[in-house]
Amino acid sequence: MDIIIGSHVSFNREKQLLGCVQETLSYGANAFMIYTGAPQNTLRSNIDDSLTESAYKLMKENSISLNNVVVHAPYIINLANMKNFDFNVSFLSEELNRCQKLGIKKIIIHPGNHLGLGEEEGIKNVALTLNKVLETDKTDVYLCLETMSGKGSEVGKTFSELKSIINQVNKSERLLICLDSCHLNDAGYDMNDFDLILNDIDKIIGISKIGCFHINDSKNERGESKDRHANFGLGTIGFDNLIKMIYHPKLREVPKILETPYVVDLEDNNHSFPPYKYEIEMIKNKKFNQNLLEDIRNQ
Ligand code: FE
Ligand code: FE
Ligand code: ZN
Repeated sequence: MDIIIGSHVSFNREKQLLGCVQETLSYGANAFMIYTGAPQNTLRSNIDDSLTESAYKLMKENSISLNNVVVHAPYIINLANMKNFDFNVSFLSEELNRCQKLGIKKIIIHPGNHLGLGEEEGIKNVALTLNKVLETDKTDVYLCLETMSGKGSEVGKTFSELKSIINQVNKSERLLICLDSCHLNDAGYDMNDFDLILNDIDKIIGISKIGCFHINDSKNERGESKDRHANFGLGTIGFDNLIKMIYHPKLREVPKILETPYVVDLEDNNHSFPPYKYEIEMIKNKKFNQNLLEDIRNQ
């Protein structure tokens, strides 16, 4: 079975989308996720259309569809709290326009942290912000609300919470959800029974609303609300469970994106290696590589 698999790749000012496609190909992937600038800040440079055209050409040559590409909004915009409402609205609107300019149809967003306001208030704020953004937005980009681990005051740690947001958004046809296996585990879902989770999603939101799937193992026990990603097969979710999710027949069309951590060089702690080529190789072979970390460090 053909799978849609890739990783987070970097979008830099010099090569923009073209660099992303080149990095993706170096991992043997056919999908990718980008932040349009650094994830921890909101500085963004202009999109260079000639680089985008070159990227499209390279994608076409390698049969990578734009449907397999997603953007992740920076995680410092917090939609669950009204403190920076105007900035959040204008930044998210601009992000949607950048996606549209790049031809990318999905952007992943974290619902945010309520910072003491409580879940209900936090959810209401997320919906208010999204309503304001969508009121004037002219793009046809989907916003994918990501399932969160429940760390701190994060909202969106259950499907019911995501559903409450969706229910309060007027143009809810513009919303999808993004699963994250590490976050689900850390929020308390049992990753040994993924079919049960899918049933739950189907009853509450609908399976057809799953727009993206972040594939991460977890360093934490189920329900610890911590959100620390582990390399593929080396965490508490485990290789077999992750493979089952990736190859699930009901999620065939959904891009699967690795956000597993870079592996630190033993000789130089300031240097680290991307794990994705090696993880994707294991995923394609459906066979766990006992020497995963060594192979990554020796690349
Ligand atoms: Fe995320
Ligand atoms: Fe994620
Ligand atoms: Zn995470």
